[in-house]
Formats: sequence, C-alpha cells, structure tokens
Amino acid sequence: MKDNLDQLVEKAKESGATRAAILNTSDIRFSEEFRRACERNTCGKYGVNWMCPPGVGPFEELKAKALSFSRGLVFQTIHQLEDSFDFEGAVQAAKKHEEVFRNILASIRSDGSFQEILGLNVGECKVCSKCTYLDGEECRYPDKAVASVESHGIDVNALVSGCGIPYNNGPNTVSYVGLFLF
Ligand code: SF4
Repeated sequence: MKDNLDQLVEKAKESGATRAAILNTSDIRFSEEFRRACERNTCGKYGVNWMCPPGVGPFEELKAKALSFSRGLVFQTIHQLEDSFDFEGAVQAAKKHEEVFRNILASIRSDGSFQEILGLNVGECKVCSKCTYLDGEECRYPDKAVASVESHGIDVNALVSGCGIPYNNGPNTVSYVGLFLF
C-alpha cells in the first residue's frame, strides 16, 4: 500500500504538480468558517454554480462525505507572476493548475486501485462556460463536476502546512492547491 501511495506522489509530480504529499483524512481540519467566507461571496461565485455553496450541499454533509475516505493526496502548483498586480498571470496560472488537476485525476483513475475518488480543487466548477445552476437545471456533467476544497470547509493552510508544504511561496508567485480523497 505504501508503495502505491508513494507512486501517487510521483505521478502527481509527473503530471505537473510542484509538490505533493499523502495524508490521512482524519488529520484534515474542517471549519464552518470557510463556508461562511463563501457566503460572504468575495469571489462572486456564491449561488451561481452547482459545486459552490449553497448548491454543493450543507457543510456537515460534505464533511461527513470527505471523512468517509481514509487517505488523500494533496498537491500544489506554484506559478511565477510579473508582479503582485499580474491578474492575467494569475488567471493563466489557475488554468494551468486546472490542467494539472485533470491530469492527476486521469492518472489515479487509470491506476484502477481506488473504487471511489473525491477530487476537490480551487474555486467554482469550470467544466461548462455557464453553469446550469443559473437556469435552475440539473448539472450537465455530474461525473466531471468538481467542488472546491474551501466549499467543504477545509482549512487549506493547515492542510498543506501539515504535510510540510508551504502555503505561500514568496513574492510575485501564486500557489494553488488541489486534493484527492480515496
Ligand atoms: S459540470 Fe457544468 S453544470 Fe455541472 S457544476 Fe460544473 S459547470 Fe455547473
């Protein structure tokens, strides 16, 4: 089992992750405070996407679902920006991170060792250019839809720090974090 998990870390790095580590889900710190941050809608995605609150489901339900998995793979991508105002650079970095997330997911799935995998990433689900939530219709691709780590009330700083991964990586960089539970 340990060898399998070590291989997952290697696969994540081969897929484009800068850092990756294995964790026990029992070590993940959950707090409803992160859900309240979603409700304050600073990102503008509250109530517009099935994978963001409130559509993604109640905090306690999502926490219980996450804790039904025993282990996880956390990964981080780090991207250089021109300066701290490089908004376009941050957008491109988020796209790159999304690609890495999908590459790792495909790699874990192709391995076939895990019956069920819960992938959590950054921000709203980006599969469709316009989420059906806004039209009151069901999610178009439930098998592809991905919720954020924060929507599950997970403390991302504690998540990475607990694995020896720095949350911040210096001036003029942006770092993103994704998580797979299995
Ligand atoms: S797959 Fe499409 S419809 Fe479903 S949550 Fe994602 S963006 Fe919305």
